[in-house]
Amino acid sequence: MAEKILVVEDEQNMARLIELELTNEGYEVSKAFDGREGLTLALAGGFDLILLDIMLPHMSGTEVLRRLRKSSAVPVLMLTARDSVVDKVSGLDLGADDYITKPFEFEELLARIRAALRHKSADADGSEIFTCGTLIMNALRREVTVGGTVVGLTKREFDLLHYLMKNKDIVVSREQLLENVWAFDFDGGTNTVDVYIRFLRGKLDDVFGIKLISTVRGVGYVIRDEQ
Ligand code: CA
Repeated sequence: MAEKILVVEDEQNMARLIELELTNEGYEVSKAFDGREGLTLALAGGFDLILLDIMLPHMSGTEVLRRLRKSSAVPVLMLTARDSVVDKVSGLDLGADDYITKPFEFEELLARIRAALRHKSADADGSEIFTCGTLIMNALRREVTVGGTVVGLTKREFDLLHYLMKNKDIVVSREQLLENVWAFDFDGGTNTVDVYIRFLRGKLDDVFGIKLISTVRGVGYVIRDEQ
């Protein structure tokens, strides 16, 4: 069955071009030309992935994403003409799965769509429980607790912690994290990883007075039981 993609893009020529390319690849495409219409369609559900422009009339792409994430975990790829790390990090923090900056090559867009869809089905298969000290991660329910208290993590924070937990006691490099958690070379560079490690430490180590994530200077990061 064809996977369904919603394209929310106010530049109609661009939206039609994307529709044409995606239809050629065998996807089923719906279009919305402003943020409000996009949100309504996205909330109606039934999409495997949403391509969401940031600069939209009536409601910005980031606002659409913020509202959508209250009830939906559908993969969202943000389209942006802006190329700023701050926009990307705030969008990713709101729960976008990936970013693509305009202008882009269609091959790159298609590759990112495939990666986001693969990631989605891989998530659905996982039913593992991971533990590290008092931290327990239920990967299927995407739930993290420390000493029984639920910790609210964004999608990206969860994915980063998930990768660290899968590699417990093994030092992983920033490049490895970017490749596996962000799925693609990310313009923000490896300092993006450091930003997210800080977010995680802020929500875990700092709040619960534990020290699970260690920095291995010149190499990367590792999660392990407290010594
Ligand atoms: Ca636009």
